[in-house]
Amino acid sequence: MIPPFEYQSPETLTEACRVLGEWGPRGKIIAGGTDLVISLRKGEARPQILIDVTRIPELRRIEEAGGKIGIGAAVTHGEIASSKLIQRYGKVLSDAASWVGSPQIRNLGTIGGNIVNASPAADTISPLMVLEAVGRVVSKKGVTEVPLAELFRGPYQTNLKPDELLAQISFPKLPSGFRGSFVRLARREAMAIARMSVAVMLRMARGEDRIEEIRISAGAVTPTPHRIAEAESVLRGKPPDEETMKKAAQCLSGNMVRWSGVRPSTVYKAPVVEALFRRCLRQALEEKP
Ligand SMILES: Cc1cc2nc3c(=O)[nH]c(=O)nc-3n(C[C@H](O)[C@H](O)[C@H](O)COP(=O)(O)OP(=O)(O)OC[C@H]3O[C@@H](n4cnc5c(N)ncnc54)[C@H](O)[C@@H]3O)c2cc1C
Repeated sequence: MIPPFEYQSPETLTEACRVLGEWGPRGKIIAGGTDLVISLRKGEARPQILIDVTRIPELRRIEEAGGKIGIGAAVTHGEIASSKLIQRYGKVLSDAASWVGSPQIRNLGTIGGNIVNASPAADTISPLMVLEAVGRVVSKKGVTEVPLAELFRGPYQTNLKPDELLAQISFPKLPSGFRGSFVRLARREAMAIARMSVAVMLRMARGEDRIEEIRISAGAVTPTPHRIAEAESVLRGKPPDEETMKKAAQCLSGNMVRWSGVRPSTVYKAPVVEALFRRCLRQALEEKP
């Protein structure tokens, strides 16, 4: 049984920060509850108060301002998947959001919850890495902007303090010519957490003969998310031929082994992540810029 707890549903960010500041580590933020309620049922989380952030208007908005796209932390996967703005400027993210769970999960689960839950398999995180996203972290003490990669401490752990909340995630609108792709592998297409996923953004040089710029990230292969710089440098400035793609794919699996060590699953995961990466790269190359 879930032990009793207080519940508050502030309507402003200031009020949410005040309540968080007052309760500190005894409180827990809840958005869609699709991860948290499971932890409550298992007894892994035992908050004395749940602070529901879904009634705070600025956490529910998707906006375009100052050359950036801002997504409130309580925006749902369903809203992201169907947002014209994100489809236009961050398609890799709207595609990933459309894969999360099922319609019911996408209607409840939020991008903020997906990030702060910090599962290595979370679908939105590698797309956000290649979009160079930044998180806006807010508390009673003020506001800080943190590159998303710096928010993660380990699997299911972030660097957020108990009195801090994630208010918004933003990424720069990409210059024209960028194209991207997200691919995931799971036991089933719906209602299954990804075994592995890959996100790629790239821009071809004029003439389409070589890759001018490329960003690569992968989900569920390393304890914390990051860009795969070695694989990026293999491809940057080169034509995307089979040999170069293979070399970059090997860099990606090598990176996985370096970060996660050799495990019983490595014999399966290494060739599969290489194949997924090549599929993702081909898909990105076929996209219309
Ligand atoms: C059946 C099922 C299928 C699923 N399938 C997928 C899938 O395919 N892909 C995938 O990536 N995930 C999947 N999930 C996991 C989950 O739905 C997502 O991670 C979702 O985005 C979590 O968001 P939420 O709003 O429900 O978070 P919550 O459960 O409300 O919160 C999760 C954590 O984040 C914290 N939190 C939430 N919002 C904030 C905030 N603004 N600031 C600070 N902390 C915050 C909470 O305190 C809690 O620790 C699935 C879950 C279920 C139950």
